[in-house]
Amino acid sequence: MKPMSEKKEEVVSEALKAEESLRSRWYIMDLDGKLWDLDEFDFQGHDKLRKFSGYEYAKDRTVDRTPPHVNLMRSLELVDYEPASDPGNFRYYPKGRMVKALLEEYVTSMVHKYGGMEVETPLMYSMEHPTLKSYLNRFPARQYTVESDDTPYFLRFAACFGQFLMSHDATISYRNLPMRIYEMTRYSFRREQRGELTGLRRLRAFTMPDVHAFCKNLVQARSEYMRRFKLSQDVLAGIGLEKEDYELALRMVEDFYNENKEFIKGLVQKHGKPVLVEMWKERFAYFILKWDMNFVDALDKASALATDQIDVENGERYDIKYMDEDGTQKHPYILHCSPSGAIERDIYAILEREAMRMKADNGYKPQLPLWLAPTQVRIIPVSHEYVGFADMVRGKFSKVRVDIDNRDETVGKKIRDAEKEWIPYIVVVGEREAGKEKLPVRVRGVKDSQNMSVAEMQEKIHAETEDKPYRPVPVPVYLQERPKFVG
Ligand SMILES: [Zn+2]
Repeated sequence: MKPMSEKKEEVVSEALKAEESLRSRWYIMDLDGKLWDLDEFDFQGHDKLRKFSGYEYAKDRTVDRTPPHVNLMRSLELVDYEPASDPGNFRYYPKGRMVKALLEEYVTSMVHKYGGMEVETPLMYSMEHPTLKSYLNRFPARQYTVESDDTPYFLRFAACFGQFLMSHDATISYRNLPMRIYEMTRYSFRREQRGELTGLRRLRAFTMPDVHAFCKNLVQARSEYMRRFKLSQDVLAGIGLEKEDYELALRMVEDFYNENKEFIKGLVQKHGKPVLVEMWKERFAYFILKWDMNFVDALDKASALATDQIDVENGERYDIKYMDEDGTQKHPYILHCSPSGAIERDIYAILEREAMRMKADNGYKPQLPLWLAPTQVRIIPVSHEYVGFADMVRGKFSKVRVDIDNRDETVGKKIRDAEKEWIPYIVVVGEREAGKEKLPVRVRGVKDSQNMSVAEMQEKIHAETEDKPYRPVPVPVYLQERPKFVG
């Protein structure tokens, strides 16, 4: 028997070794694939990357101030807290529901084009199911639990469970790979800590597109991974978030990096600017590589939008098999991708970005992307006499969201209210305009008003929104008929 002190030392050193192998090492990778220590890299011209690296390194998730999007989401009557629910579960007003629904439809249409097969799976799963039990033990998460007939269930925190169980039961040949399965989960649930919940940024109930690709081997996984990287860039750009709006992090196991340096460099080059790298000596999660595209907000907090991972463990855990060319059964590599991240977080990012632009430039006119604006054209008749003409103008538009401010208010007040709503096109009609083809149009962000016909306005709006889904005005067309949801 060993003396007490020696035994203790042994335990400590084992624990230290384990900790060392789990410890994250942080670098910046430049476009040549060179790794820099954080304190050696020159962050000049990479201000957001510097903020993002600092945030990730410190891992401080608490929020001490209210981020600006919280006021905006309420004043635009999009979305709000629901005091009767658990924190982090929100209510969507008609305009917010429309914005969110359009984002959901858009992301889904992009995943369809990529080849994703859309499915629908349950919101809750038994904690006693052997595979799920082993999964939850291996990766403890903060989930909601629900009881039914004495059986404990948990609410899903991603679409993985449903898609994996479905794939376990499927007959899959190597010819079917890569096999792409997709679900827009409304909702997924995570019981994030109270102090970390902030507006739309971190919620307990969120809407997450989740597309898995089952791949034959690493070669196929890598090429599929590249396709999905492009898909995610395209999806974010369509939402209105360009490369300058987010920072990329690559997180991987050291061995994988050493064996795939060119591939990793290829991802950085596709991103087009230096990235943050987190590296581990040993794999502790189910993935060997993960990237995430992160938005840095007005309070310098970062949050992941899109993400994709190469999973080498769950094919076996869920016993998902495909029949290979040589007649043997094998477990696939599984890629987990969310091409936009949570839809709520996309709304948060758009609003925060507009808040940052307003802060930087006093005269800046914030806007939602045109395809997401609840009203695209507001017609303001100067008096009741011209409501009929406003109706006639509105009737000439097709697939454009046009409403009419028929309230008993002054024209000045109506224009100010339209501006508070960030409405992109405002048209005032009175005696001078009645019966005319060309109308004076105030285009948001443009100084002087322009004379345009309905056809010209419509063409301009369609050109800017052509590859996006469309929904009609989500509230009554006449402002007089609208309830006020906030304030
Ligand atoms: Zn997944």
